[in-house]
Amino acid sequence: MAIVLVALGSNRCHGRHGRPAGVVRAAARALAGLGPVLRVSPIFATAPIGPGSRRYANAVAALDWPGSLPDLLARLKGIEREFGRRTGQRWGDRVLDLDILAAGAAVVRLPDLIVPHPRLAERRFVLDPLVTVAPDWRHPIMGRTARQLHTRALRPKARPRA
Ligand code: ADP
Ligand code: MG
Repeated sequence: MAIVLVALGSNRCHGRHGRPAGVVRAAARALAGLGPVLRVSPIFATAPIGPGSRRYANAVAALDWPGSLPDLLARLKGIEREFGRRTGQRWGDRVLDLDILAAGAAVVRLPDLIVPHPRLAERRFVLDPLVTVAPDWRHPIMGRTARQLHTRALRPKARPRA
């Protein structure tokens, strides 16, 4: 493997890292323990989707990962577990979501790992940071670059005329 695009998301506070943006920043530092982090996007705040849910902080990092994608997923789940622990609690909510978005032109379809991430092209909270890190990355199945997917996601949906 070479450059892997990893999505980082949080919508809960952490005892040590504070608000979701602080959790995402700390998670980006944790990624650097896996390999060189070549780029990290700005952190985007996303309005909560449903009542009662909280604001999300989202970012995308480009990680130089020498191993396999299943091995990387296992390491990411390990980092998620570390962040799930809040001080004063034994095992709190998972405060961090780390997803493998893409790895160049790799296509993976395993029971527990699909790359490119199947909902990547629909999610503004993924595309906004992704386009800042890898605008020219091309989706190997859709054939469009991150920039094109982002532009398409910005367009209002076509509605039938009255
Ligand atoms: P979500 O990311 O959809 O909020 P989870 O983080 O709980 O939900 O992920 C659920 C499962 O999705 C994981 O256990 C993992 O095995 C699977 N999965 C499939 N494809 C991917 C991917 N590209 N990146 C991360 N997880 C993935
Ligand atoms: Mg996930």
